[in-house]
Amino acid sequence: MTEPTRISHWIDGKPFGGVAERTGEVRDPATGALSGRVDFATSEVMDEAVAAAKAAFAEWGKTSLTKRATVLFAFRHLLNERKEELAAIITAEHGKVLSDALGEVTRGLEVVEFACGIPHLLKGGYSEGVSTGVDVYSIRQPLGVVGIISPFNFPAMVPMWFFPIAIAAGNTVIVKPSEKDPSAANFIAQLWAEAGLPAGVFNVVHGDKVAVDSLLTHKDVKSVSFVGSTAIAKYVYETGTAHGKRVQALGGAKNHMVVLPDADLDLAADAAVNAGFGSAGERCMAISALVCVGDVADPLVAKISERMATLRTGDGRRGSDMGPLVTEVHRDKVKSYIDAGEADGATIVVDGRNPEVDGEPGGYWLGPTLIDNVTTDMSVYTDEIFGPVLSVVRVDSYDVALQMVNDHPYGNGTAIFTNDGGAARRYQNEVEVGMVGINVPIPVPMAYYSFGGWKSSLFGDSHAHGTEGVHFFTRGKVVTSRWLDPSHGGINLGFPTHG
Ligand code: NAD
Repeated sequence: MTEPTRISHWIDGKPFGGVAERTGEVRDPATGALSGRVDFATSEVMDEAVAAAKAAFAEWGKTSLTKRATVLFAFRHLLNERKEELAAIITAEHGKVLSDALGEVTRGLEVVEFACGIPHLLKGGYSEGVSTGVDVYSIRQPLGVVGIISPFNFPAMVPMWFFPIAIAAGNTVIVKPSEKDPSAANFIAQLWAEAGLPAGVFNVVHGDKVAVDSLLTHKDVKSVSFVGSTAIAKYVYETGTAHGKRVQALGGAKNHMVVLPDADLDLAADAAVNAGFGSAGERCMAISALVCVGDVADPLVAKISERMATLRTGDGRRGSDMGPLVTEVHRDKVKSYIDAGEADGATIVVDGRNPEVDGEPGGYWLGPTLIDNVTTDMSVYTDEIFGPVLSVVRVDSYDVALQMVNDHPYGNGTAIFTNDGGAARRYQNEVEVGMVGINVPIPVPMAYYSFGGWKSSLFGDSHAHGTEGVHFFTRGKVVTSRWLDPSHGGINLGFPTHG
């Protein structure tokens, strides 16, 4: 038995030296073994981190765009060079298979690449001669210290939706990672240091509600970017804004995939399996409700079941298709939804409750599960399950399918499968969801577009990354200037108009 590693904060360019009053267990989900103990910050530790970030902002906020971009390029290079190491850290604490962990790092890298273009992204506007001898121009300035609170399911990518842009724009950052898989953030902190980022610009503070509340209420924290479950997202939004902060809080999801009768069913079956069971369904863009229109259901369920029979569940380091769930508690919760669906009268077509696995018996295993004849009043449909459970809902028409998606409280992602361009176009226009896929199951936008849902999937008005990200991490200022020519205008107490 190896001793669990101590995982502590990263403050002011170095590992935190102090002792922790409280810690949390970090386990390898594929074995159940205790691999680490993560320090939980007190509000005093958070104060220390915010003070370091505030001090660093005094310089970093004024550092030239070219110098900031140079550090970003160096970070991008190191991250790319060491992405396999980061992926291995993610798999060891989250459980997702290695290829999936690598995919997560790659999507994060894309945001770093986007942020490398910060000199272009921060260009303002200029209007010459708005009035005689008067010019107006706009500039965007950094906010100061910004907080980022992330969920367990993407320990590298989700923080990277935010911090590359925040740092490139001149802010200094405190990341509060999920306590379930905290090590990725520390690895990233080391890369930043190697890339030449000054101490205090990127800090990692671990912990639970105590750390989150300290960030949300701290007078020197100017904004909070949160990703996690809806209940906490709402709490973070309300508490952060009540304390005068700019907040973007991305919440949970229940993503529907609508399949119309004219769809290519092989393509739809592949998509449903990939999007339903990739990362064991622990993705905010996972498909969890398959809405079959007309006579699509029987053949599609058959095709999906065939494909599910080929999936290998097991340790993510052994080339399996699907890894374990993140914790035992979460695995048991997901399992209880399958029990509830069965008790409610749904048909369990493929049952993952006693899976055959290529892994240790102590892992948090649950096999892919397909449930048919689900109705909209069942908890397998209403709730975000966040596991490898795909529910099939049968409906008669496009209109009923659309209404169902629009009536659901979540609105993160959705997909439609059809060969009818008119139907797809109508869906894109009518559906009340933030990210839409047309014959694409996980419509995760590219870094230069913005990511985020509607309704209970997002609180606040800024989505992540892309131009909305640049906007979120900067404040606009408009300057009206006149350089005397020297024809003085004289006294005029009227409201300024154009002359
Ligand atoms: P979570 O809400 O439990 O935790 C998210 C963060 O909040 C963590 O850092 C955690 O430490 C902190 N937290 C937990 N409880 C808290 C409390 N009572 N007070 C203050 N802070 C608290 O979410 P999770 O289980 O880590 O992640 C899964 C959830 O995240 C799912 O609902 C998923 O849909 C969502 N998610 C959404 C998106 C999106 O883009 N909308 C992306 C990824 C994940």
